[in-house]
Amino acid sequence: MTGTITERLAMIRERMRVAARLVGRDPDAVTLVAVGKGQSVEVVRAGIAAGVTDCGENYVQELVTKGAALGEAVRSWHFIGHLQRNKVKAVLPYIRWIHSLDSLALAEVIERRATRPVRCLIEVNIGGEASKSGVPPTGVRAMVEQLRGCRNIELRGLMCIPPPADAPEANRPHFRAVAALLRAINASGLTPTPLTELSMGMSDDFEIAIEEGATMIRIGTALFGARAP
Ligand SMILES: *Cc1c(COP(=O)(O)O)cnc(C)c1O
Repeated sequence: MTGTITERLAMIRERMRVAARLVGRDPDAVTLVAVGKGQSVEVVRAGIAAGVTDCGENYVQELVTKGAALGEAVRSWHFIGHLQRNKVKAVLPYIRWIHSLDSLALAEVIERRATRPVRCLIEVNIGGEASKSGVPPTGVRAMVEQLRGCRNIELRGLMCIPPPADAPEANRPHFRAVAALLRAINASGLTPTPLTELSMGMSDDFEIAIEEGATMIRIGTALFGARAP
């Protein structure tokens, strides 16, 4: 990892542009969500100063600390980790997006606790991993239907974290499968308006995710450097 955060951000944005153009997509249609997991408030602040608009956090305590310190400076906060039901109340004041809606039980708590609609993505357990949260691909349509009556859950799309792989290219079929799932949901008119968002791609594979249709990429290490374990 070399360079300043500003230089790395410019490099990532250039790589995003190249990947989007390669498949004829508009580079501006992809949002970079800067993942501050394991990083200090000061590091994330430097990211914002460099031009980051959207910040993501995995852990409730980190979100609350950084949200309180930096809240005003960020356009949108995204919660991207597994969210326990008893923590929903703590995160709601800060976040605009939840990428990790992974059960109906969680959705029910958000619906009840939120005082304004929250933009949500269903996390798809695309690799069928027992160790990971997320809705199995075969269960996503049912969940979309079950969310239809919710006033405070504004369903916007799908998110995935592919299983660990040796090479980024191994993730392409998973990204492609999630994109196909989104299209199938839209084709069957299950939602009042089409779902538009695909949150997929991290530091090692974001170009592949963009080629396969990602509209949000979640970048930690490539922007902020190695994090505390
Ligand atoms: C940590 C994390 C990221 C960022 O990962 P990097 O490889 O550091 O870019 C993205 N998404 C989720 C869900 C994460 O937990």
